[in-house]
Amino acid sequence: MEDVFIGLGSNIGDRLKNLTLAACSVLKIPEVEFVKASSLYETEPVGMEGQPWFLNAVLWIRSAIPPMELLSKLLEIERGMGRVRKEPWGPRVIDLDILIFGAMVVKGEFLEVPHPRMHERRFVLEPLAEIAPNLTHPVMGVTIADLLQRVDHSKKVFKVAPWEATPCFGD
Ligand code: ADP
Ligand code: MG
Repeated sequence: MEDVFIGLGSNIGDRLKNLTLAACSVLKIPEVEFVKASSLYETEPVGMEGQPWFLNAVLWIRSAIPPMELLSKLLEIERGMGRVRKEPWGPRVIDLDILIFGAMVVKGEFLEVPHPRMHERRFVLEPLAEIAPNLTHPVMGVTIADLLQRVDHSKKVFKVAPWEATPCFGD
């Protein structure tokens, strides 16, 4: 079993509903166990200006599924929720990224773990540091709390509320 951290983001439609449906779908994958969920964060878009703000969160699970297999399940969930890929940094109903997969390092064409841009993204590091500040980044060798201290703080990130997704997260 590995500790896996998944980043979720949405900036189209009912964003909270989208995050919750996606998280509940992840937790329905066989051999995936819930550990913890971060709060919800309102975040200023990065990359493409002029699009709506995102709702972001991080989900901590435990699983024995191989990373590529988990990725294809996540992409299936994205497709099932009607995500259409247009511009790479553009608006999306749901984005599911594998941030960290135990101590594994993968540098494939379709999958890179740890996520290659996670350490540059405050909208990832804030929710991740909330639930796992002492987690060590397997490549950079420093904690998430350290990465958060170093990250560019020019983009706005606001913690808005706890993420209560009962019954998916238990009661
Ligand atoms: P981004 O999340 O960077 O905005 P997209 O979600 O549009 O970009 O890109 C998805 C593609 O990124 C997937 O098809 C997948 O093959 C690839 N990818 C590489 N590494 C990861 C990862 N760690 N988590 C999720 N997708 C990844
Ligand atoms: Mg993605």
